[in-house]
Amino acid sequence: MENFGIDSALKNLGVSTNNNGTSTGSKSSGKGGELKSFSPVNGQYIGSVSTTTREEYDQVVATAQKAFLDWREVTAPARGEIVRQFGEKLRKHKADLGKLVSYEMGKSYQEGLGEVQEMIDICDFAVGLSRQLHGLTIKSERPGHHMQEQWHPLGVVGIISAFNFPVAVWSWNTALAWVCGDVCIWKPSEKTPLCAVACQNLIAEVLKDNQMPEGISCMINGDYQVGEYMTKDERVPLVSATGSIRMGKIVGQTVAARLGKSILELGGNNAIIVTPEADLKMTIIGSVFGAVGTAGQRCTSTRRLIIHESIYDKVKDALVNAYKQLKIGNPLDENNHVGPLIDTDAVKNYTNAIEAVQKEGGRILVEGGVLQGSGYESGCYVKPCIVEAENHYATVQEETFAPILYLIKYSGDVNDALAIQNGVKQGLSSAIMTNSVREAYQFLSASGSDCGIANVNIGTSGAEIGGAFGGEKETGGGRESGSDAWKGYMRRQTNTINYTDKLPLAQGIKFDL
Ligand code: NAD
Repeated sequence: MENFGIDSALKNLGVSTNNNGTSTGSKSSGKGGELKSFSPVNGQYIGSVSTTTREEYDQVVATAQKAFLDWREVTAPARGEIVRQFGEKLRKHKADLGKLVSYEMGKSYQEGLGEVQEMIDICDFAVGLSRQLHGLTIKSERPGHHMQEQWHPLGVVGIISAFNFPVAVWSWNTALAWVCGDVCIWKPSEKTPLCAVACQNLIAEVLKDNQMPEGISCMINGDYQVGEYMTKDERVPLVSATGSIRMGKIVGQTVAARLGKSILELGGNNAIIVTPEADLKMTIIGSVFGAVGTAGQRCTSTRRLIIHESIYDKVKDALVNAYKQLKIGNPLDENNHVGPLIDTDAVKNYTNAIEAVQKEGGRILVEGGVLQGSGYESGCYVKPCIVEAENHYATVQEETFAPILYLIKYSGDVNDALAIQNGVKQGLSSAIMTNSVREAYQFLSASGSDCGIANVNIGTSGAEIGGAFGGEKETGGGRESGSDAWKGYMRRQTNTINYTDKLPLAQGIKFDL
């Protein structure tokens, strides 16, 4: 199989075949066991990282805590300048990092580049934010008093990330946390450790060039047990965790048990409502990209299409036709639309879901299956499939992280479609395809979509960094990235200042001595 320049990308990013998995910046260590990374593209071994031992972890936290004492004294715009330089570094290494993301995770090279572009964009956003960490002034009820609200950094922020956005999700958290004055410890997915090594190398260079202390950006590696070091650690006031609902329930409860803060970004079960007023061409493009892009491994991937009965057959036929044109293969080859799943466990989940939904009454419209033979040696390539289903099926109620699209018919009006859309436990992304202003605004109203993301005339997947990203219900309620998500990385302080020589009490209480 063609190499597509992977070797030189790894070299340019300072990723070798054996990497230290524990780092506080330029200092790194590697005392734990070996975590191997294989590419889902061709099944080949890429390299390994050492896992973080408990002893190494404690050293990392101590270093991070020490760094925080300095970092919080650096002015916010000066912290923004470091993040600006990191954005520049990413611009320089965009092609290399995009390629590594594609090779280690399996998404298309274009999507790998897009992910690095998201990192660059959030750096730009954070630079601007570094001069806008605004508090409020509040009118006091007492004469000669001033009230204000200000925001201070929290300290050490733990970041646990998923495999499917192996670099962008880290940067959404870190770029904001850094300008807010926090220091970060990152535990990446055990399925994509080399992407993390590359990112840590790039930020380490920037911090070193600016003579910043060790510990502002730290990386630890390993499975859930290494993640648990952080979730149970009261020295880590905030844990931001992205991944499955199963993980989020454990992490959320563990952090809450010590009254820590958490930002949870968990699974979705995203739907597009297609009404009789929809533009069908846009519907097909939006639905197909949403369902098969990143091989259905986006938290915002389209899982369900809720289609009005009057146009159901037309939409179904157009989709079936569009799926015939999909090319499945090496994601580094730009002619392909669909790459592999992350590993063979994911393939098993996919085949199990197809089997289960059929048992529940689902009717296959576009047949799935695992691809074999030349180019598919990793065993991770599957055919995107379409199933006619009902919303109440157990399989439809769950998120299967694979390209399976369920078509669900509705009759009645947009409220009937909304009842189906909202009738799942997850609440991440949603969309409506309609040219009717009435339907669109009903969808966006308080009695409309119950998701954190609600789109009109675009699909469910792909979000801009300027908005707050996250979802409701079992998706966890966390918000990252744009808008005022930065507030999640800071502590709020209310100040009352008395500039008189009298001490009146609030609520008119008298207390004379
Ligand atoms: P996962 O839950 O298996 O793992 C995610 C991370 O959590 C990994 O780093 C893992 O080591 C860690 N982890 C697992 N159990 C833990 C525990 N008990 N304590 C501490 N850490 C623990 O998820 P995955 O398979 O890597 O990613 C896919 C899932 O992530 C999907 O459900 C997808 O929807 C979700 N996701 C959500 C968003 C979002 O923003 N809402 C973004 C990307 C992915």
